[in-house]
Amino acid sequence: MAKIILTADRPTGRLHLGHYVGSLRRRVELQNSGQFERIFIMIADAQALTDNADNPEKVRQNVIEVALDYLSVGLDPSLSTLFIQSQIPELCELAFYYMNLVTVQRLQRNPTVKAEIQMRGFAENTVEGDTAQKQGIPVGFFTYPVSQAADITAFRATTVPAGEDQEPMIELAREIVHKFNSVYGPTLVEPEILLPDNAACLRLPGTDGKAKMSKSLGNCIYLSDTNEEVKKKVMGMYTDPDHLRIEDPGKVEGNTVFTYLDAFCRPEHFSQYLPEYGSLEELKAHYRRGGLGDVKVKKLLIAILNETLDPIRERRHYFEGRIEEVYTMLEEGSARAREAAAATLADIRRAMKIDYFDDKELIASQAKSYANRE
Ligand code: ATP
Ligand code: MG
Repeated sequence: MAKIILTADRPTGRLHLGHYVGSLRRRVELQNSGQFERIFIMIADAQALTDNADNPEKVRQNVIEVALDYLSVGLDPSLSTLFIQSQIPELCELAFYYMNLVTVQRLQRNPTVKAEIQMRGFAENTVEGDTAQKQGIPVGFFTYPVSQAADITAFRATTVPAGEDQEPMIELAREIVHKFNSVYGPTLVEPEILLPDNAACLRLPGTDGKAKMSKSLGNCIYLSDTNEEVKKKVMGMYTDPDHLRIEDPGKVEGNTVFTYLDAFCRPEHFSQYLPEYGSLEELKAHYRRGGLGDVKVKKLLIAILNETLDPIRERRHYFEGRIEEVYTMLEEGSARAREAAAATLADIRRAMKIDYFDDKELIASQAKSYANRE
């Protein structure tokens, strides 16, 4: 079976280090490995509108930001199809069919959606007439996991490189595929999530130490942040609150600066930036013992992040001068993506027996049955 990738990001802001370690870095490696028949990278503008209905301008402006971030990390339009979700109407159509295969109760159990409802301040229960209360949950937002299953399966994706928060979505997509194939006959491919292999990257915490770096939480280091911005953000980062004096023993677990080092540090960084330590393990041991200050560790992190981000910034600068070309690339990508989705939808319509005009058998048998009545 052909190996196919689909992944996406919501154009609700520029992409950050969480995206990078959770998914982007892997995508580029997979792209360059040549192991995949096709790679689809989607800018999920329709999904972004599910919780930004009153802010279409934000979504519109961020499409180009995400596209620039893609190109700057090394996604290459000659190897990967980069496209915009809303330009593929087949995805909406498929989501509509899938709605019949999922229960409201099943959607209510999705832990990621539950957390997002909390984070976005939507009211889970609204009392009728109580207009002063929080806003209720938009139906489109509630059902976005179904639409995500449509996105993945419309491209017959086998592999979805994503962060841990996406596990419940992929699980649901697999259930939908299973249900579809058992009701309508084998048509769809069950996707698999490809999680980062490094535990620190499964869900990179925010600079405030909160569980997840996320645009909505405003705790991000962006791929497009300048050297100075990175420095400032890292210097302000949460470490171990009990590590007050340099001599004090410090905690490495739950210390965001060390989590970032786990995600970004390579052995050669030590000879380059801190030759007195042989490895990250040695640095951690010293911190635990006491006698190592936060500033020294933060300076190492700043150097490593800036080294990682420099080539990304350089490529971004290049593409920022070629915005028209970037849009042309997205338009061409969207046309290619649409072709692929339309081919799958033709199979789906046939399986669901809603391909009336192509179903010669249906027409002939009904004609015959009416002829026999005369
Ligand atoms: P929003 O707040 O608009 O939801 P977000 O920052 O959560 O934005 P998404 O666009 O929802 O980002 O996520 C896109 C992809 O990046 C997903 O595959 C997700 O798993 C991954 N990802 C996002 N944040 C992180 C993180 N902090 N750590 C690891 N992976 C992440
Ligand atoms: Mg999110």
